[in-house]
Amino acid sequence: PRDTVDVVVVGSGGAGFSAAVSAHDHGAKVILIEKEPVIGGNAKLAAGGMNAAWTDQQKAKGIKDSVESMYKDTMKGGRDLNEPALVEVLTSHSKGSVDWLTEMGADLNDVGRMGGASANRSHRPTGGAGVGAHVIQVLYDNAVKRDVDMRMNTRGIEILKDDKGNVKGLLVKGMYKGYYWIKADAVILATGGFAKNNDRVAKLDPKLKGFISTNQPGATGDGIDVAANAGAAMTDLQYIQAHPTLSVKGGVMVTEAVRGNGAILVNREGKRFVNEITTRDKASAAILNQTGKSAFLIFDDSVRKSLSKIDKYIGLGVVPSADSLVKLGEKTGIDGKNLTEAVARYNSLLKSGKDTDFGRPNLPRALNEGNYYAIEVTPGVHHTMGGVKIDSKAEIMNAKQQVIPGLYGAGEVTGGVHGANRLGGNAISDIVTFGRMAGENAAAYSKKN
Ligand code: ADP
Repeated sequence: PRDTVDVVVVGSGGAGFSAAVSAHDHGAKVILIEKEPVIGGNAKLAAGGMNAAWTDQQKAKGIKDSVESMYKDTMKGGRDLNEPALVEVLTSHSKGSVDWLTEMGADLNDVGRMGGASANRSHRPTGGAGVGAHVIQVLYDNAVKRDVDMRMNTRGIEILKDDKGNVKGLLVKGMYKGYYWIKADAVILATGGFAKNNDRVAKLDPKLKGFISTNQPGATGDGIDVAANAGAAMTDLQYIQAHPTLSVKGGVMVTEAVRGNGAILVNREGKRFVNEITTRDKASAAILNQTGKSAFLIFDDSVRKSLSKIDKYIGLGVVPSADSLVKLGEKTGIDGKNLTEAVARYNSLLKSGKDTDFGRPNLPRALNEGNYYAIEVTPGVHHTMGGVKIDSKAEIMNAKQQVIPGLYGAGEVTGGVHGANRLGGNAISDIVTFGRMAGENAAAYSKKN
């Protein structure tokens, strides 16, 4: 029958699609549901890149990196509060996940730097186009090719279990069909985070009350309630990340890759105040300390040309530009004289090879080519680190640390992978690796049951 399968996947972000494709390829009959009318979740919006270590793409560019270095950076970025076994999975499978996507048609050949990384390991399409939209497109095309049953406007409501506590299916609500059951031996929750739900966010971290968010409307966290009702334990819910650079005028997130590729941050007084590519928590706190609780990303045409995404921001009309820094100051209210000095100082530090002012570890290019640009930015709620507790097989656990048989979780709905703070570029890596793993393990489990 139509509504009886081996595996149901809840959510159509990167974790959900990776799980659905992988479960299918491991022999399972799959239904994927999505409560919103469109696919892709927040994953579709991800702009930075996909972190992975020691890949063919890095080797082709002569970049030296290692799984250990990615592991160390991830733990440090998460303030050592990450679950080590999960970070081990994230980092040791990262190359495999890049290869898996590449075999399915993805282009992850551009490799750039993101905050908190000690090497260039953020993989994205050639020219620096949005990685999330590309990865979702590739996964979607592959799901279509495999004839995966995908149902939009369909919300996962409640996990069905038998009297032994084994998962037997999911109660869903279709926009047109209303409530109905999907019978399945395994359910994979890939429902994303709750950054768009400010009530939930502010209860857990009152400092973030009233903050705008970078997330899509579906990022409300109802998947967390579905998991909790099925007995899932939660972890790290209090760790909520602000992304440091949301465009004040456009309300859109400006990817960290703009800084990674060479932009600096200055305040209204025209002065640098932070290592631009420090971790997101530190960069956000530093921006909130400046006059007007905002700051400006400053870059030139060479940075603009290095990242095609920047033309999208320019197209939104939120990026004033001028042929001199003094004029840019006049247009934006930044002190132009100080700004000119700050850029000259930055260029001289770059020449010396060391940022002795703020300790920025990568100094990719001087800012002295053609037009100059400014984007006013402020932090917005971006990622929720906490969520359901999983083990290193993506099995969801209860409060007694026992696996709930047949229940799997992957992606932002889970907690533990990123500790107290997620590094840019680790989300796409997380959702693909744990999504694949959840799919494979759920398929194997369903065969035994
Ligand atoms: P990840 O990055 O972990 O894959 P995303 O935020 O990209 O997460 O995707 C999660 C998707 O799950 C979103 O598209 C969201 O609308 C969807 N979703 C959330 N809760 C439910 C639910 N209860 N039923 C169906 N889909 C859901």
